[in-house]
Amino acid sequence: MRGAIVFLAVFIIMLIVTLQYSSLPPGRMLYSLLNVPETTYPVLGFPATLLVCAVFNGVVYGIVAWLIYTIAERPRSVRAHPERVGAKPRERLYAKKFCINCGSEISLEARYCPKCGEAQQE
Ligand SMILES: [Zn+2]
Repeated sequence: MRGAIVFLAVFIIMLIVTLQYSSLPPGRMLYSLLNVPETTYPVLGFPATLLVCAVFNGVVYGIVAWLIYTIAERPRSVRAHPERVGAKPRERLYAKKFCINCGSEISLEARYCPKCGEAQQE
């Protein structure tokens, strides 16, 4: 979800930057691939060609920023939520065995029964 905000922020920044520096790649290059004649007809106060180039740049840089953000964010989210990696430690914690002498429920790691003190076989 936050990736979408990153995309949107970069999209708007690059849109504004391209409107100032119209030669910024790759917007102009993508526009020429469309085979549409360049026009200075104003749309929203900007020449139509420049506006289209700015939108292209916004999308391209937005996707790049979103990808970088997603890759950079992934290791951090795994560290913050270790339970997503695997449930093994919790399973071990709650797994039980029973005393060979008195039959009390004791932890897997216990070498002696806490109730009767009997040594447990592994
Ligand atoms: Zn016992």
